[in-house]
Amino acid sequence: MRWHSLTPEEVMELLKTSPEGLSDEEARARLEEYGYNVISEAKRVTALRIFIAQFKNVLIVLLIFASLLSLAIGELIDAAMIVAIVVLSALLGFYQEYKAERTLEALKELSAPKAKVLRDGRVVEINASEVVPGDILVVEAGDRIAADARVIESVSLTVDEAVLTGESEPVEKTAEVVEVGTLPEMKNIIFAGTICVFGRGKAVVFATGNQTEFGKIAEMLKGVEEEETPLQRNLRNVAKVLAYAAVLVCVLVIALGLLRGYKAVEMAIWGISLAVAAVPEALPAVVTICLSAGVWKMAKRNVIVRKLHAVETLSSVSVICTDKTGTLTEGKMRAVEVFFDGRTHPISPNTKSKTFEMLMLAISLCNNNASPTEKALLEAARTVVKAEYRRISEIPFSSERKMMTTINDVDGRRLAFTKGAPEVVLNICSRIMVDGKVVELDESRREEIRKAVESMASLALRVIAAAYGEEAEKNMIFLGLVGLIDPPRPEVKEAIENASRAGIRTVVVTGDNPITAKAIAEKLGISGRVLTGEVLSRMSDEELAEIVEDIAIYARVSPGHKLKIVNAWKQRGYVVAMTGDGVNDAPALKAADVGIAMGSGTEVAKEASDIVLVDNNYASIIAAVEEGRGIYLNIKKFLTSILSSNAPEVGIMLIALALAMPIPLLPVQILWINLITDGIPAIALSIDPKPSDLMRRKPRRIGESIFTPEVKALILGVTVFITAVTLGVFRSFEDVLKAQTVAFTLLVFLELFNTLNARALDRSLLEVGLLKNKVLAASIPLLILLQFAVVQVESLRTAFHTTALSVHEWAILLLISATIVPAVEAGRIVAKFIKLSPGS
Ligand code: ADP
Ligand code: MG
Repeated sequence: MRWHSLTPEEVMELLKTSPEGLSDEEARARLEEYGYNVISEAKRVTALRIFIAQFKNVLIVLLIFASLLSLAIGELIDAAMIVAIVVLSALLGFYQEYKAERTLEALKELSAPKAKVLRDGRVVEINASEVVPGDILVVEAGDRIAADARVIESVSLTVDEAVLTGESEPVEKTAEVVEVGTLPEMKNIIFAGTICVFGRGKAVVFATGNQTEFGKIAEMLKGVEEEETPLQRNLRNVAKVLAYAAVLVCVLVIALGLLRGYKAVEMAIWGISLAVAAVPEALPAVVTICLSAGVWKMAKRNVIVRKLHAVETLSSVSVICTDKTGTLTEGKMRAVEVFFDGRTHPISPNTKSKTFEMLMLAISLCNNNASPTEKALLEAARTVVKAEYRRISEIPFSSERKMMTTINDVDGRRLAFTKGAPEVVLNICSRIMVDGKVVELDESRREEIRKAVESMASLALRVIAAAYGEEAEKNMIFLGLVGLIDPPRPEVKEAIENASRAGIRTVVVTGDNPITAKAIAEKLGISGRVLTGEVLSRMSDEELAEIVEDIAIYARVSPGHKLKIVNAWKQRGYVVAMTGDGVNDAPALKAADVGIAMGSGTEVAKEASDIVLVDNNYASIIAAVEEGRGIYLNIKKFLTSILSSNAPEVGIMLIALALAMPIPLLPVQILWINLITDGIPAIALSIDPKPSDLMRRKPRRIGESIFTPEVKALILGVTVFITAVTLGVFRSFEDVLKAQTVAFTLLVFLELFNTLNARALDRSLLEVGLLKNKVLAASIPLLILLQFAVVQVESLRTAFHTTALSVHEWAILLLISATIVPAVEAGRIVAKFIKLSPGS
């Protein structure tokens, strides 16, 4: 590599590009030639691979074994039925996983890293993967560098290269030629994967993808597994425990069966079927489906989920620490007031004053048109300042410094212009311009300025001060103040009320003035103590944790303070969501339980975050919390439904064997029940509509098991009920074939109706609405019909070993099974009564 020893012009010539960048056409051609700017292709999950994975399942292997056994003892139809059911469940499993996988892929696409490049002379944002050699990268603080590039322009362009060199001290880059050859000394090269922490600049790309320095070491980083969410891990463990239990049951059943004199092979088939039925194999897949469906729902509400766990963590958030500017407010600013010559005036281009003209000159020259604040200032100065003055250099703005400075050539004079937070600008001024004359900035003038700031801020205005001088940020001449209006977003007040009803606190964290922050917060219904960054810096973590619950507004904070705030809330046991957009917000976003980046924020903030707010809007956070809660609740319903339908199957068989009754259910029947009840109703539950009181409940406690008391009670109660009813009815028939058909049908019906109970969980079904879930309401009668066919249609009858039932019997079976709904309702009332009664 010799790019460092060439001038920018030579580099551009060699790479056949210009300061205008490539043309779109040329960029496309080069993408063909050099390939995507990615580090070795990740292996894709293909449909075929997912399909084959279905058969790698131990349970399916066992079932195939069972069907071979059936074949061996001459049960041709049974063997065929088992195979048919294996294929059906594999298809169902395939469908579920395929859908989840596609969503996750789309998710990655949504949060793909971006880069800014010049194309045909214009700055455009493209996917970082489409950067090609010859592109001119446009880099600013907060960007992750997309490719290796030679710097051609640097305004304090400072890069953190820790990923490459391990060196934590950021390096300032230059466009000059350097002669040295080792990597850390190449001060005119920026490397892929490193982070711009300050300033900005331009650079010509000369290497992409695996050709970059990062690409060369990235081989080592390959193969990082997708992390499971806590819930996924939890439920995978549940499924594992149940699998062991199922094997135990299977062995027990075979042993009992042998004791009762059944044939070994028969019992093996039987035990296997039961084990398969008992294991909720769909559980992990359905959880993934629910979570990834949540991703889509949130995307529709302007929230991009970057980490799947956020879907469930959002449901337990108990405090949201939010930025003010642009998140609670519109972020569309307008200058309304100015202060100069000792007085405050409404802004008007007709103002005749030398001080005013200088003030307008300062805010228009010291301006990159880069933020709403700067745009508003530029707009205010537009009609006053006509001439253009060349900029010589710049000291960029950062949230820590809270000001910026440019040095311009004003008619042959080198002048520095500074704008920033008033107290910061006051600090670097020793003089002031009054009525066009420069005089000393004495204490009484300072006091006058502070009063003016206070009165503008109390009107919720954002106040910017400006100054000029011969030297940058030293000994400057104060010019005046500009007050910018930034109204609250109309929907935010209601969103904050909703959050509060849902047991979620809202805390404002802003770099803005405390009075401005308080005025905006008050308009939004947030009240409480204000703490400034200055005071915060002097507090220990313990001291902050003591009072953190009383503080509603943090003002004049730096990004570094955000981490302290997150930790204090966490220490108090809260689940914390924190917003951010700047490069230095990353640590706080990572530390928060849910890190929220702004759509307009920096690449680095987005990378550190769990979700991204496309519209920067606080209200979208609350929408996402609501979706998260709904999804978590549905997983709970699904879990309850699937476990309370699997357990009775095992219970019935074990009790029947133990009491030396005839076998109540045949293997094919068990498998059929399993397929029906684990399948459609369960899927219907995963898309159950949100209950209307969802945002009036308290947040779920973090670390709370999904097996809450009401889930356990429902599973246990229903298992006992179904087992008892089925066995009771089974025993009342003399004819075994008839008894089996009845038990089989009854079990299907009971489990179908029970999905309605699972929908309600701890509420009354009347409260949540019997038919609210259209898919479920439609699938229950449909599956009843299907069961009717299995029993009444001649050929199916042979396959399922059933016998026809009379209309009378059908009616009775439906009636009995429907009682599970009022029975559970009664149970709920009793449970509530016990809870309410004193002494318990
Ligand atoms: P926030 O976005 O929470 O209001 P920032 O960190 O962006 O906080 O800004 C902090 C303070 O810095 C602002 O209150 C303002 O006084 C000042 N400021 C903001 N943007 C600029 C800018 N482009 N140039 C100079 N000063 C600025
Ligand atoms: Mg800001």
